[in-house]
Amino acid sequence: DGGVALDPWGSATVGDYRNLFEEFGIEEFDEIIDRVPDPHYLMRRGVIFGHRGYDAVADAMREGEDVAALSGFMPTGDPHIGHKLVFDELIWHQEHGADTYGLIADLEAHSARGMTWAEIDEHARDYLLSLLALGFDAEEGTLYRQSTNRELQDLAFELGAKARFAEFEGIYGFGGGTSVSHMQSVVTQMADILYPQLVDEPKPTVIPVGPDQDPHVRFSRDIAARMRYFKVTDAFASFELDDDERRVVAVAYDDREEYAADADTPRCEEAAEYIRGDPGGLDAAADVIDSTIEKLENAGMEPLRPRVRFFDRNATDEAFEALIEAVDGEKRVFEAHVDAFDLDRTAAEELAREIEVDHDGFGFVAPSSIYHRFMTGLTGGKMSSSVPASHISLLDDPEDGYDKVMAATTGGRDTAEEQRELGGRADECPVYELYAYLLAGDDDDFAELVYDECVGGERLCGDCKEQAAGLMREFLAEHQEKREEAEEVLADLDIDLDV
Ligand code: SF4
Repeated sequence: DGGVALDPWGSATVGDYRNLFEEFGIEEFDEIIDRVPDPHYLMRRGVIFGHRGYDAVADAMREGEDVAALSGFMPTGDPHIGHKLVFDELIWHQEHGADTYGLIADLEAHSARGMTWAEIDEHARDYLLSLLALGFDAEEGTLYRQSTNRELQDLAFELGAKARFAEFEGIYGFGGGTSVSHMQSVVTQMADILYPQLVDEPKPTVIPVGPDQDPHVRFSRDIAARMRYFKVTDAFASFELDDDERRVVAVAYDDREEYAADADTPRCEEAAEYIRGDPGGLDAAADVIDSTIEKLENAGMEPLRPRVRFFDRNATDEAFEALIEAVDGEKRVFEAHVDAFDLDRTAAEELAREIEVDHDGFGFVAPSSIYHRFMTGLTGGKMSSSVPASHISLLDDPEDGYDKVMAATTGGRDTAEEQRELGGRADECPVYELYAYLLAGDDDDFAELVYDECVGGERLCGDCKEQAAGLMREFLAEHQEKREEAEEVLADLDIDLDV
């Protein structure tokens, strides 16, 4: 289907991924894959096709800096091979040093899908067992469920204070018939997304999800920015009195558009106090601010988004360069300013405190995301949890898994002869997807061989499916054995699964 609607609770199918780039501003993963250290095969094969702000995570990983990864699972049914993509993405980030979180979105399952708590508990166990069986290190990482995480609930409450009903209407189409609990589950998800930065330092965080979850990511990036305004280390103001001239430097780093507006907001007025009496007043200051923003942004300081700015209009280019260098050298913004402009530290601190009225101090970095393609259902169409033949559950009996692959539709031609002549259509084949997304594992040569043999007409569907079915049977048997081993690990974890 050509039309794209991103609905986190709809049945996930995204007809045209290109639309996502144009319409929603999701960025192409291809463009940054070179910045990712040792990219996962799902990245290399284009299964992970899009992102928001993932360059921040990739760059930090490459530099050996702290990053986090988090994804949630709504326990509404069995985990299946589509969910395995997310499990793998989390585990890969964990193996690459990310502080990694897996969470059970039980509040969402209850409020948005009407699951009973008993059902939720059962499915939650199954998700966690598969995640552990696939290699999630529970000692290094964190697993939790939303409903029993007090810290998370507190954060959700704070975030809720910054969210407006009109936004829920605009983003999710919520209306008068939406339950209050469903809305609460949304702010809880915002809190999930920011949780790694709450329990530890603010840091680049990736949320691996399907593109249908993008509204949550966009909303959380927005809310993260609102929680960041007037943060201590990011707000700064100072002034010095020269003999006959008042020199002012006041900066408040802020993402809130309304503060961007300029001197009309009360907060800006506060800062403006300090340049009153200067000929030209705010207008002149605004010019200086504009050119300063440009300089800072050109120097790659954009993530801090300085929004309210009153700079020393007499500052020299050298001073700006020193500032930029100091910030590049990872000095705190405040320190950088003091050094670069050679300011009176005590006066600077005093003034910084004054304009930092009511800061929240969370200091969240905007969360990033990566998006993977949805797997095609084995019967064609979309893979759906509610249509057993369309997917392979990670709990399926290995023989059933074998049979499902054998019964799958293919991109093959009507006759063997035609196939030899024209080649198969691997790009439209759910069986080929199984190879690329799962069965070939890290072995690119094997995935390519299947593709080339298929489109080259050397591979016929009967044999091809049998090979895939055999590999699937093997995978399921092995996975389920590991799930049994993981029972013990799960029992030792502090997760309440019998509410
Ligand atoms: Fe699909 Fe394999 Fe047939 Fe090609 S040969 S169309 S990959 S089943």
